[in-house]
Amino acid sequence: MPKHTPQIPLATSREYAWQAHVNGTDAAEFHGDCTSPIDRALRGVGSPLLAALAQWKVDEDIDYADGYGLIGEFAPPNTRTVFVRVRCRKCEACLGYKRRLWTARAIYEVRQSMRTWFGTLTVGPERRLWAQMVADKRAVMARGESLSSLSSVERTRALAAVLAPEVTRWLKRVRKAARSDKLRYLLVTEAHSDGFPHFHLLLHERGQPVSKRTLEAKWLYGFSNWRLVPAGEIRQVGYVCKYIAKSAQTRVRASRHYGQSPIEYGQ
Ligand SMILES: [Zn+2]
Repeated sequence: MPKHTPQIPLATSREYAWQAHVNGTDAAEFHGDCTSPIDRALRGVGSPLLAALAQWKVDEDIDYADGYGLIGEFAPPNTRTVFVRVRCRKCEACLGYKRRLWTARAIYEVRQSMRTWFGTLTVGPERRLWAQMVADKRAVMARGESLSSLSSVERTRALAAVLAPEVTRWLKRVRKAARSDKLRYLLVTEAHSDGFPHFHLLLHERGQPVSKRTLEAKWLYGFSNWRLVPAGEIRQVGYVCKYIAKSAQTRVRASRHYGQSPIEYGQ
């Protein structure tokens, strides 16, 4: 069990417990088609005010039985820990799900936008050396190991961590130059065969258009390549999203609520 059990509303935890009870399983199942799901604990916590009001009739020997309501005429306890069965995010089925999910989100964003750019940011030789030096120094400081002694996955991740702030700065410069803070993005980090990361992006114009010249000029760490996703051509969206499912290590970064309709995030 993790050190810290995430908290959810008490009513939700009872709902999950009831679902598990009806299905005859140990945990409420949310793992879809995952072939090696994981059980996670969630602690349902009730309102402190209601708990305080019910305090006088709480009896420590009396519990709440799922499906049967209260045992006796007493108030239920204020917490209820439940188990949920969730995706491993690593198996074939989970990677396929991740790809389908992000593809659907990207298509939604394309449809909401005036235009969409598809681009790749790569890092030139000088900046590569610099990033390797910084990542090496950090690895030595943090774990007493040189960058070259890390596994290829960890090495790519360490290098991507060094480069990520520059991608953020690049996006800020582009937004400023285009006078549009409404540019939305999907960013996928992928490793070259030598393990050095590069970035694939979808950039969605919601307000002012942005030019190819601006996109290229603001990336200072190497080469970039940009083309517009032709209207009605969503195949290129699938091309970016293909990388997402390439391995369990691939990282995805995106604008807030990327591709999520108001229903999905419940706002
Ligand atoms: Zn899985």
